[in-house]
Amino acid sequence: MSARFDVVVIGGGIQGVGVAQAAAVRGYSTLLLEQEDLAAGTSSRSSKLIHGGLRYLESRQFGLVRESLRERETLLKIAAPLVERKAFYIPVYAHSRRSPARIAAGLLLYRALAHGPHGGFQRLAPRDWDKLDGLKTAGLKAVFRYYDAQTDDAALTRAVARSAQEFGAEIRIGARFIGAERVGPRYEVRFVSAGSVTSCSAQALVNATGPWVGQVLSRILPGPPRLRHDLVQGAHIITPGTLHEGLYYTEAPRDGRAVFVMPWRGRILTGTTETAYVGDPAFSAATRDEIAYLQEVLTSYFPDLSPTVEDSFAGLRVLPRTPQGFSARAREAVLLADGPVPRLISIFGGKLTAYRHTADEVMGRFKGVLPERAARGDTRRLILSVP
Ligand SMILES: Cc1cc2nc3c(=O)[nH]c(=O)nc-3n(C[C@H](O)[C@H](O)[C@H](O)COP(=O)(O)OP(=O)(O)OC[C@H]3O[C@@H](n4cnc5c(N)ncnc54)[C@H](O)[C@@H]3O)c2cc1C
Repeated sequence: MSARFDVVVIGGGIQGVGVAQAAAVRGYSTLLLEQEDLAAGTSSRSSKLIHGGLRYLESRQFGLVRESLRERETLLKIAAPLVERKAFYIPVYAHSRRSPARIAAGLLLYRALAHGPHGGFQRLAPRDWDKLDGLKTAGLKAVFRYYDAQTDDAALTRAVARSAQEFGAEIRIGARFIGAERVGPRYEVRFVSAGSVTSCSAQALVNATGPWVGQVLSRILPGPPRLRHDLVQGAHIITPGTLHEGLYYTEAPRDGRAVFVMPWRGRILTGTTETAYVGDPAFSAATRDEIAYLQEVLTSYFPDLSPTVEDSFAGLRVLPRTPQGFSARAREAVLLADGPVPRLISIFGGKLTAYRHTADEVMGRFKGVLPERAARGDTRRLILSVP
């Protein structure tokens, strides 16, 4: 007979390890299958921000921003020093699409939605502009400073995985899910590990495979409901130099999109883009056009910095399909169940910042399906350790 688990999670990105932790802490026997390595997918290719997402105010995603700001505060407490509060600067030029008044209004709303004492922002005096890492001052009308947080996304993913293991979750790296079939109240799950096909059974199955979510759903029987979605590539470039003051929130000269210029491991990280992607998620990589677009952003704000690309990477967002453009689409995670009494939940999209909240929601959906167990902790308070 195959091994029996309460919960089997497919995917070792931030969402998968988050669910594994939430399940294990609730006392459930948990197995996580990851085909390659922890954070091998999008969770090592994000912009590495733990933030409410100031720009989501423009698309009126107030609930998402409020929830993410709450999670930011939680992560600053439980994941220090992996999650660090940082100053963010927004320069506004004569040619900027957003006026100083509009930015100030956005920051006021951001502050109102924030929990705790750290929502403040300032408008810098012009005499301080020269201290901003060589930011172009010609045509500059205003600079705002506010505070959000930065992390190492892959390290955060590994820290959450370790926490899940401490509560008994089994994490199998190099274990590729190949199919599952509903048999009575359970799913029989097959995966390949160390060259052989192995099986196990789950009372609850979670598809947390990020951009592979659709591929994985197509291997589950009987065919569960599907959600039409797009894969949207976001690229980053790494260039020489450092930024001492903080992170810069800029508008791309070509199209006015928000692009961040950030300090990262003694280098500068600039991103991101939004390019429709079709094909195998494993091959996502920055295109020449994306690289040129990001170099243009960097040099138009920091003319003295070198645009020489030392490295680049790209990740894929999963955005449920709607008539809106990519930027305006909801960034909240969408949970798709196999029926009214769910045994399978697939996670579409979501944010690194909100992984803990998403995991709680997933486990909440299994309430009444999984037997009651005594909880052994609360993920809002469990300290995530860095080795
Ligand atoms: C460019 C970009 C920038 C972003 N920036 C931010 C940001 O700054 N802040 C923020 O909060 N959010 C950000 N996000 C969102 C965030 O990064 C993602 O929501 C999150 O990383 C997705 O995690 P995931 O676990 O769903 O997917 P992934 O990290 O892609 O994990 C899926 C995992 O499933 C595994 N897998 C796939 N198929 C199988 C299989 N058959 N068997 C076993 N394993 C399998 C893969 O190997 C992979 O490791 C960004 C997203 C993008 C694309």
